Parts: sequence; structure tokens; C-alpha cells
Amino acid sequence: MSLDEGRAQLILELRRGGVDDARVMAAMENVSREAFVPDALREKAYENIALPIGHHQTISQPLTVGLMTQALQVGDRMKVLEIGTGSGYQSSVLAPLCRRLYTIERFRELFELAEQRFAEQRLTNITTRCGDGSHGWKEQAPFERIIVTAAAHDVPPLLVEQLAIGGIMVVPVSDGRDEHDQRLLRVTRTDEGIETEELGHTRFVPLVEGDRP
Ligand code: SAH
Repeated sequence: MSLDEGRAQLILELRRGGVDDARVMAAMENVSREAFVPDALREKAYENIALPIGHHQTISQPLTVGLMTQALQVGDRMKVLEIGTGSGYQSSVLAPLCRRLYTIERFRELFELAEQRFAEQRLTNITTRCGDGSHGWKEQAPFERIIVTAAAHDVPPLLVEQLAIGGIMVVPVSDGRDEHDQRLLRVTRTDEGIETEELGHTRFVPLVEGDRP
């Protein structure tokens, strides 16, 4: 299968998997995933699977990116925070859907590569930071939306604090029994606290707190 055929096939799989928001679908169609995977894996770029990107990290499965982006209900005036830039693939789907995306990655090499890709893809509304994203980005808070693309142990309280009232956070949470099996949560911040909905199960690499060893 050529990359173009793979790309068309993937769009069908996303639709079948439940991505039915027209803006999200258009954003997914516009991104060249092959620009975000290591060269050696280019021919697998449009398979609906996560792929290794080095440092034991992965570029997310396209269906997961589609469903999480959809669950986030992003509007084009919104300020969005992403924890776990990784390859930059999820960021490149989100950026065209919002006003500005702030994204944090703890591995310098992944962070630099993602920055380079954003420049190449002319994604000019992304602000990047290298460091521990589990504390959020206080100077830029509040955010209307927050997406965490690594698995937390619980809904991170510091990120809830940086969510605007009425804002939404999508975060995978592992409850400890099996850290590879996580519940994907949609958390809405209200005047009184938070409301939580469970959206399904995901498999992300863990959110690692603290600076890199
Ligand atoms: N959204 C990415 C998926 C990346 S996998 C994509 O589309 O490719 C999760 C990423 O989160 C990894 O790159 C990992 O290094 C990063 N990460 C884990 N803990 C982190 C933390 N505390 N702060 C910032 N990044 C973190």
C-alpha cells in the first residue's frame, strides 16, 4: 500500500472508530503523520498504531489522538495546554483548532525535534517548553483546555488549578493495578470543584514527575 492509500484507509478507520466531529476530522486529514515518525518507520506512518520515537516513548495511535481531540471540544478562541509533546503529532492536530497551544516535553531531544517539525509544518501558534509538565505552566494559566498525553496516577491537582472555570481536561489515569491500562477521563472544572466522566481505556507511557535524571 502506498502512503496515500494508507492515509485514505486511516481516515476510514478513524470514522469507523467514532471520530465524527468535522473540524477534528479535517485537522487529522491535514496532518502528514509521516513527518512525525522516525524515518525508518515512515512506511508504517498511516497504520493505526502507536510507534516508538526513542527514549522508550511513542507517537500516539491516530484513533486515540482523534478521540481525545474530539473529547476536548476545542474552540478556535481557546488557549490550550498539552503535557507530553512527544513527536508533536497530537500538537499538530490541536494547533489549527485553537488560538494558541502551549506544549511541554521533558526529553530535550524530543522537544527539539518537535520544535523543528512545527517550524517545517508552519505551525506558528505553538509555544514549546522543555521540562516537567506535571506542574503545568503557571505563567500562562488559566487554560480553557488541557490535554495530558501520558498516564497520571490521579487527576493532577496542579493542572486542575490551571484550568479555567468551565474548562475541560482530558487525561489518562492509571489506578495502580496495571499501569498500562488506564481510564481516559474528561474532567470539567466547575465553580465547586470538578466533574469527571469516563471515556474508555487507553495505553499511554507514564507521566513522570520531576526533572529528568
Ligand atoms: N502526544 C505525543 C505522545 C507522546 S508520549 C505524540 O503525539 O507523539 C508521552 C510523552 O510525554 C513522552 O514524550 C514523554 O517524554 C512525555 N512526558 C512524560 N512525563 C512528562 C512530564 N512530567 N512532563 C513533560 N513531558 C512528559
